[in-house]
Amino acid sequence: MIKKMAIYFKSDKCVKCYACVIACKLVHNYPPHPISPPVAEPEGVSLLRLYEYSSHVGDDNLGFHLQLVTCMHCDDAPCIEECSELAIYKDLEYGVTLTDKEKCIGCEICFDVCPINAPCYDENGKIALCDMCIDRLKAGKKTSCQSVCPAEAIFVGTAEEIRALKDNGLKKESIL
Ligand code: SF4
Ligand code: SF4
Ligand code: SF4
Repeated sequence: MIKKMAIYFKSDKCVKCYACVIACKLVHNYPPHPISPPVAEPEGVSLLRLYEYSSHVGDDNLGFHLQLVTCMHCDDAPCIEECSELAIYKDLEYGVTLTDKEKCIGCEICFDVCPINAPCYDENGKIALCDMCIDRLKAGKKTSCQSVCPAEAIFVGTAEEIRALKDNGLKKESIL
C-alpha cells in the first residue's frame, strides 16, 4: 500500500540559513559543499533550492517571501509519463518519485514537462532529483533537510500528519 509522503514548508518560520540545502547536497554527494557559515545560496547541483521573492505594488515593496523548491512527488507525474527511457518511476511504498541515472540520456524533457522545473542534471548530464531521503525514511529516520532545520520549518510526512501539524500550529511535540 502506498503511504504517500509530502514535504511541508512553513515559510514564516524559515530563517534562511541554507542548512537544509547544504545537508541535502552532503547526503547526496553533490559538491561544492560550502564551508560554514554559508554567506549565499550554495552553488552547483541542488536537489532542494530556497528562493526569495519580493512583492511590489507600484513602488511599494510589500516584503519578501521564501519558497522551498524541490520535487513534489506528484501522483500522476508527467515526468514519469514523458520519459521515453523509463528512467523515472515511483516507489510503491512511499509514493516517492525516483530516478535511474543509468537509463537517463539527458534529454531534459522531464524538466520541460515538470510544472515547477524540479529536475536538475549532474556533471554527466544525468537527471538529479530529490529522493525524499528514502533510505532514511525506510530506516524510520527524518529526511536530511528536516533533521537539520533549526527552525522546524520543514516537515515530511503523510497528508494526515501534515494536516494534524497545521491544526496544531506546528507545535514541537507534534513533529518529534
Ligand atoms: S519532477 Fe516535477 S513532474 Fe516529476 S514528480 Fe517531481 S514535481 Fe512532479
Ligand atoms: S532527462 Fe533523463 S530522466 Fe529526464 S526525460 Fe530525459 S531520459 Fe528521462
Ligand atoms: S534549514 Fe530550515 S530555516 Fe534553514 S533555510 Fe532550510 S527551511 Fe529555512
